[in-house]
Amino acid sequence: MPPAPPAGDTRHLFHPDHLDDFLATMRLGLDHLADALRAQAKQTGPATGVLPEQAAKVVADVDLDRPLGDTGAALAEMSRVWLDDAVWFHDPSYVAHLNCPVVVPALLAELFVSAVNSSLDTFDQSVGGTFVERHLVDWTAGRIGFGATADGVFTSGGTQSNLQGLHLARDAALAAGHPATHLRVLASADGHFSVQKAAKLLGLSPDAVVTVAVDEDHRMDPVALGRALAGVRADGLVPMAVVATAGTTDFGAVDPLPAVAALAEAHGAWLHVDAAYGGGLLASARLRPRLAGIERADSVTVDYHKTWFQPVSSSALLVRDSRHLGHVTWHADYLNPKDAAHPNQVDKSLQTTRRFDALKLWLTLRVMGPDAIGDYVEDVVDLATAVGERLAEHAELELAATPQLSTVVFRYRPAGLSEDTADLLAGRIRSTLYERGTAMVAATKVGGRCWLKLTLLNPMASLDDVLAVTDAVAALGRELTAEVAA
Ligand SMILES: *Cc1c(COP(=O)(O)O)cnc(C)c1O
Repeated sequence: MPPAPPAGDTRHLFHPDHLDDFLATMRLGLDHLADALRAQAKQTGPATGVLPEQAAKVVADVDLDRPLGDTGAALAEMSRVWLDDAVWFHDPSYVAHLNCPVVVPALLAELFVSAVNSSLDTFDQSVGGTFVERHLVDWTAGRIGFGATADGVFTSGGTQSNLQGLHLARDAALAAGHPATHLRVLASADGHFSVQKAAKLLGLSPDAVVTVAVDEDHRMDPVALGRALAGVRADGLVPMAVVATAGTTDFGAVDPLPAVAALAEAHGAWLHVDAAYGGGLLASARLRPRLAGIERADSVTVDYHKTWFQPVSSSALLVRDSRHLGHVTWHADYLNPKDAAHPNQVDKSLQTTRRFDALKLWLTLRVMGPDAIGDYVEDVVDLATAVGERLAEHAELELAATPQLSTVVFRYRPAGLSEDTADLLAGRIRSTLYERGTAMVAATKVGGRCWLKLTLLNPMASLDDVLAVTDAVAALGRELTAEVAA
């Protein structure tokens, strides 16, 4: 008899033979996570304020060729290299980017997503998972107001969803016989940079994205859009797509979708609605009317990992007409041969092996229901409105615009302070808030000037919590003015 192969150490595999090891490891991990959360609750802000060079050093010191061989020791080391200084999005003084605290049903689903490791490309790698994803796609499409011909697919994020939406638009334009060099994409000046990136990746000409002016509320100006569309055509070029944003990253502005849709239709342009941020309004009966017209889009981006309180990654691209998704289909003999009858999702996706992210949203909806998500969205929108009202009356803080979704753009600028000093102060205030571990706010530019931005996505944050941050901004403004002026 040939000798048996060496046993090797299979203890680390997720396997029924090692169920006790698995449970012990997971309990250790859960305790470690709970301890970290408890420790965080005792700290004063969302992060410790570690600087990049310090963070880089502790990581670089780890020798990856010398394993610790012990989960407890590895967890302790993991805390040193990352977790101890991590930024916690549930902390009410974390008000920087579009990051949300996550709902626990989704977190629970993550465990199953990774442990079972289903891959959503084909039925034989995911079985029911294929239909869970399809059911959620159909459900979201229904909320958008698409009809029975709609379809879609989960993606890694809004960037990928936007890329795929524009990819479909490009291929529709190419199929109509237009040369790639003639294709133009119209998006508002406040649209997301991933639109520019997608145009570049799709091989369009460097000036393919035509920027459309916004009105005083930072929404795409339909008159300017009409002019831009006519201008593109007068130049002998082709308006391949109009990208409307439903919730701009800075001001939460929702472009006037019915007017934009009418113009896109009139000029034969594909309408892509980037609702990466505003997509959460679909869950709120009160706020849903703000998205009226979204059902006229050809494709829509929704980021569940923003306003649906899902862990990263969770996003989808939805299309009004399922036939368009065929533009990304490529037949591989071993996976989705042309004659195969088995359902698959790989035909609709830019990815092949793909996480079962849909399960997170599924468990969220089955435990909490969509209304609970809608309530969260309403809470953060109402909070931003309340903060905006306070800042509008503030003697030292200046509000850039009335909040529309859950962002607040403002700066420290008491009477008499120059624009240049206000610019310098914005950056200094932001970095000082981080370094002191007080709060985390974002920065942006408005009309070439530096402003601060609060992005509110924490349904548990109170008005007082957020006013504590704006008070800290004002106090730092006073403290740092002399320093900056010197
Ligand atoms: C966040 C965002 C994106 C990009 O989405 P990711 O999930 O970060 O890739 C695109 N568009 C808008 C309007 C966004 O707010």
